Amino acid sequence: MRRCKRCHLPETYETIEFDNEGICNICKSTEHKKVIDWGARKELLDALVEKYRGKSDYDCIVPFSGGKDSTFQLYYLMKEYKLKPLVVRFNHGFMRPTVRENAERTLKLLGADFLEFTPNWKLVKRVMLEAFKRKTDFCWHCHSGIYTYPLQVAIRYNVPLLFWGEPLAEISHYYDYLNDEIEYEDETKFNMCRNLGITAEDMHGMIDSPEDPVDRRDFIPYTYPALKELKRIQYCSVCLGSFIPWDYTKNSEIIMRELGWKNDELEGVPLEINGHGEKIECFMQGARDYIKYMKRGYSRATQITAFHVRNGRMTPEQALPYVMNEGKRPPSLDVLLGYLGMTESEFNTIVRATEVSPYHHDYGRTDEAPRVWDQDLWYKEAAPDAGASNSRVYLKVV
Ligand SMILES: [Zn+2]
Ligand SMILES: [Zn+2]
Repeated sequence: MRRCKRCHLPETYETIEFDNEGICNICKSTEHKKVIDWGARKELLDALVEKYRGKSDYDCIVPFSGGKDSTFQLYYLMKEYKLKPLVVRFNHGFMRPTVRENAERTLKLLGADFLEFTPNWKLVKRVMLEAFKRKTDFCWHCHSGIYTYPLQVAIRYNVPLLFWGEPLAEISHYYDYLNDEIEYEDETKFNMCRNLGITAEDMHGMIDSPEDPVDRRDFIPYTYPALKELKRIQYCSVCLGSFIPWDYTKNSEIIMRELGWKNDELEGVPLEINGHGEKIECFMQGARDYIKYMKRGYSRATQITAFHVRNGRMTPEQALPYVMNEGKRPPSLDVLLGYLGMTESEFNTIVRATEVSPYHHDYGRTDEAPRVWDQDLWYKEAAPDAGASNSRVYLKVV
């Protein structure tokens, strides 16, 4: 596979393009971040905050998982601006113990009101299965709910200002630092980047059947509010990372020092490259990253080292061994198969059909990633071939 000469992202990465020197457009775009007038951006943020301060029961809404980005975002808004936020968490069902503790400590130390919403698990499982079968992405409920639910809370509480964390320009080329625009979280972006192009109404239509009917109301938490409703509260939904430079490593250092925020193991990723604690909030992350690897030949370790290379914290040579060593089968896959009610060979057949050329996955590979410490604590359901892990059937490569 062709890879960026600098960050090693491969040609199977979504939205990637290479220039004549073999450098990718994401490397180019983040270079531009260095010449953005961050002072002017900060003044915009000052003005935005003052426009909304004190106008409703809360100054703003902060969607919050307890992960590094939302923790930094909450810390920054409360320390720098003394805002009174309503903190909102959509619980995707895969919260890890360390992140729960981090969240609780953060909320207590900062002193903020907190609302948590956990959707119906039986529906979540059906939706996971449907989204996995259609898009090989079982996270529709999470990626829809974490964006739609806080907006619904904004409407209900009449709080127009919402702050999200990291800007998408850091991770993809759908949004870009070069066009120098503030990144708004609107419905276009939601449909393009968040919900796999499947709205709540679509999803209801896909899984509802006469034999097994689904109440339309179960989809309300995943429904993007009507523009009319959002306009009524004069909503303003922005990424904090559009106004201040978003440096993962520095941000994590700050929350570790100021809030005692703790890092954790991330399945399939060597701890020494994830000192900043990326993606430790979700115990399905290892399985999710593995699917990406099976389809595209890269996953989390490559993405993390690409960040480090772009930020000058690693050389391309130092990153390469991590890029070459990833893609091991994560033990969390057994947990996912339990939720999906699927055997591993059924799972492999579905993923295999979505392979992105020129990557070709080796289904004979049997190396496993180490188990993370908390796996025994996760909620589990038995998979159809549970207990068969020693005689696991791998799909034959034709
Ligand atoms: Zn690159
Ligand atoms: Zn998720």
